[in-house]
Amino acid sequence: MMQNINKFIKKNKIPLIIIICLFFNIAIIINYSINLNKPKEKFKEIKPLINYNKSLSKPTPKVINIKNVNPSVISDKTIYLTFDDGPSYLTEGILDILKEENVPATFFVTTRQIDKYSNLIIRMREENHTIGLHTSSHVYSYVYSSLENYFNDLNIVRTKVFDITGIKSRIIRLPGGSSNTVSKKYSPGIVTQITNKLTENDFYYYDWNIDSQDASGTLSKESIYQNVVNKIHSGTNIVLMHDSSSKATTAEALRDIIKYAKANGYTFAKITKSTPAIHHHINN
Ligand SMILES: [Zn+2]
Repeated sequence: MMQNINKFIKKNKIPLIIIICLFFNIAIIINYSINLNKPKEKFKEIKPLINYNKSLSKPTPKVINIKNVNPSVISDKTIYLTFDDGPSYLTEGILDILKEENVPATFFVTTRQIDKYSNLIIRMREENHTIGLHTSSHVYSYVYSSLENYFNDLNIVRTKVFDITGIKSRIIRLPGGSSNTVSKKYSPGIVTQITNKLTENDFYYYDWNIDSQDASGTLSKESIYQNVVNKIHSGTNIVLMHDSSSKATTAEALRDIIKYAKANGYTFAKITKSTPAIHHHINN
């Protein structure tokens, strides 16, 4: 074969340099073809720090049909403003602020001044607040001396509210809350008996988990504001406040509390039978 190639080169007088170039070109092409067929070197596999498929399930976007959901379920930052011991001359101003801010609330009323301010009890109903019962007399020595006295007293305020508004309220707050120990002085075990009887008879009692501390003397409106806004948190916030006649600074702090809460994504609701029960530990 080589002889034939030599003959061909001599016959056609091809220069030696072209022959050499041709030879190198053929060698490069052959080498490239061999490399193409070689298996490629594998890169060392680097495992991710977190295996998302195994340890983290991909978040599925939650679809909430707003039309079919109770607003209190949508928000996990709910505030229930509650006012005990009214009505009094301060209740009107509180109702005005609630109306201007479009905020519902819950009033645990007594009968001490209910005849004088029956128009405010009517406003509570008309403006869609909850009218809860806090006993008629609020006299510890009477209501906590026996089960019979408690329910007689409760019945007086319940009947009064019904006469004014047509509402038979079943929302209750015990004077001093269900954790009070003052009642021990009048009848050991009375709060346990009362709360059991209330529950058996389809009444719903509520304590609080945010205390404005306005019951402890006369606090400045700044202190009441701080006591509330520093403690509100995600979830259910039942705020204890008072609208009895000595609690002017509570009414003064109210608008700022509402504005702070709104600015921080809280919504407001009134207590109903379906509100999560906030119960203190019963000490008597
Ligand atoms: Zn009270």
